[in-house]
Amino acid sequence: MTFVITHGCCNDSSCVPVCPVQCIRPRPGDPEFTTTEQLYIDPATCIDCGACMEECPVDAIHPEWELPEHLSDYLEINEAYFEGSPVEESRPPDPSRRRLPVGRSKLAVAVVGSGPAGCYAAAELSAGRMKWIDTSWP
Ligand code: SF4
Repeated sequence: MTFVITHGCCNDSSCVPVCPVQCIRPRPGDPEFTTTEQLYIDPATCIDCGACMEECPVDAIHPEWELPEHLSDYLEINEAYFEGSPVEESRPPDPSRRRLPVGRSKLAVAVVGSGPAGCYAAAELSAGRMKWIDTSWP
């Protein structure tokens, strides 16, 4: 059994750091993170703890056994994302991608888009709560 991320995913990645087995991809810092349509859970690694579902701000994560019929394709969609690229072989995020370029003391950020992810990013930036970007990943 596994949990499944569905089309409502807003890519804000709040589910990523709470996963005890780090099976949600892509993660901030992964090359495909900025272009992915949604995040995905590796069903072969998920331990069904439910932590990601509790964290999701848009209720896009469901346990496999409670997946609504109209979202049933997402079980296969999540699984397909990891075909040929299992979690164990995934490259960890490159920490250097989260640092300011040498000689710059300020970071200018533009939030592009007005969807949920853009609104959450703008709210977090305004509140100064995006320190996780500068912290090291496990
Ligand atoms: Fe990770 Fe738990 Fe969510 Fe599975 S249910 S993806 S183990 S946080």
